[in-house]
Amino acid sequence: MSPLIVNLVYLVAGILFILGIKGLTKPSTAVRGNLLSATGMLIAVVITLLNSEIVNFSYIIAGVLFGGAVGAFMALRIQMTSMPQMVALLNGFGGGASLTIASAEYFSVLNIDAHLFADLLEPVALGADAFGLGAVGQVTLISIGLTILIGAVTLTGSLVAFAKLQGLIKRNVGLPGGPLGNALLLIGALTALVCILINPSQAVTILALVALALLLGLFLVLPIGGADMPVVIALLNSYSGLAAALAGFILGNTVLIVAGSLVGTSGLILTKIMCVAMNRSLGNVLFGKMAAAGEVVDADEIYAGKVTSAQPDEVAMMLEVAKRVVIVPGYGMAMAQAQHAVRELADSMESRGIEVEYGIHPVAGRMPGHMNVLLAEAEVPYDKLVEMDCINPTFEDTDVVIVIGANDVTNPMAREAEGSPIYGMPILNVDKAKNVVVIKRSLSPGFAGLPNPLFAMDHTLMVYGDGKKAVVEMTTALNHS
Ligand code: NDP
Repeated sequence: MSPLIVNLVYLVAGILFILGIKGLTKPSTAVRGNLLSATGMLIAVVITLLNSEIVNFSYIIAGVLFGGAVGAFMALRIQMTSMPQMVALLNGFGGGASLTIASAEYFSVLNIDAHLFADLLEPVALGADAFGLGAVGQVTLISIGLTILIGAVTLTGSLVAFAKLQGLIKRNVGLPGGPLGNALLLIGALTALVCILINPSQAVTILALVALALLLGLFLVLPIGGADMPVVIALLNSYSGLAAALAGFILGNTVLIVAGSLVGTSGLILTKIMCVAMNRSLGNVLFGKMAAAGEVVDADEIYAGKVTSAQPDEVAMMLEVAKRVVIVPGYGMAMAQAQHAVRELADSMESRGIEVEYGIHPVAGRMPGHMNVLLAEAEVPYDKLVEMDCINPTFEDTDVVIVIGANDVTNPMAREAEGSPIYGMPILNVDKAKNVVVIKRSLSPGFAGLPNPLFAMDHTLMVYGDGKKAVVEMTTALNHS
């Protein structure tokens, strides 16, 4: 097929990716955006398969069947609450794929039989000329080195992120020397990369680069506390895109460069947004220097004798006389699968003329957009979902805030307690409302492991119980009043 046609089709695919991402910026156009991007990817895959240089279709078909079956199984089985783990795993696979492409390309250019592992440790009797090196050869080599570095970091970093979110790794331990240890690993990996450029025939340096980069990914993420994990996942997503773009340079594949760059930059923008939402500086994230999961704060001191509890029917009486109510959902709403019950409570309130809105914190739940997805599933109108910066000034004029399964994102310590691990994290200022109702099962802390002074405030009522059950009981009581 003529390169002109291939590149024109790639251009169409690239435009579809961009339109798709634009669509994803608004809930109302998100489904269409997703479809556009998927169509672009299908076109790109088909034209690539029709293009020359595909040497073995049987491997490709086997890969599609095996990978497709595993992917479909995972996607069908996954719970919404485990979606961040799945995203972490997929980022890791992306990094691993780029790492494999770059390594395979290196060995194929050097003409080494990669099956003979022992041979890799011996210098190969080929000089840099084996690459036919001119400027283009050097660019390919640099791309191979950088793809291996970033792909390997993404692979092990994402696997650790997965294991942490899945609760398989509970301790936050890093290298002795912390960021300095990581910096040494990075310097080691960059040195190996430079050695490869100077003498590409030393296959052992490639192995050193792979090993150092895998360790770097491991030790970058291992010390990071769970509360910072969303930033890490967004960053690893960006890395996986960067690795794919570099792999595009190695293969001379335009659409891979375009798609990888889009993932790389959009992941970086998401990282920046998450940094602001979680109060991490981008520099600290890049160097793996993050807040530990939590300092010890005495919960008894905060709660002792100060917490007031209530039953759902008492809350219904309060709602009867309210004019404006804001619902603040969090991870517990996802756990309780209470989104439909919440929507029914809102319907019931609105039928009485009460104004109802939802306050959405950017990191409520366990992944960006978690609450939006759940509430959209329950067919809550998009315009009722109000972002943190817009809803915060309205709390003073709100009669009742119903916090359902949210904790960290409402914790006033983030505003007031200097030295607290979440100090500086922007929060929903629900404590400014006239009355606050918190639905959760106990006084247990949230993801950051901290007590929440909101629960002990004079105008806060705790409704203990499963989120869905409590909301259903409130709705029943309100409908019968
Ligand atoms: P939190 O983790 O702070 O709190 C959730 C609360 O839900 C818990 O305190 C728990 O209390 C309650 N809960 C659990 N199950 C139920 C249930 N069945 N019914 C009622 N309540 C329940 O959640 P937030 O959404 O407030 O904050 C998100 C946190 O997660 C932040 O720290 C954020 O940094 C972090 N994070 C966010 C990610 C993202 O991208 N959104 C990704 C990873 C982490 P109890 O046990 O007493 O019921």
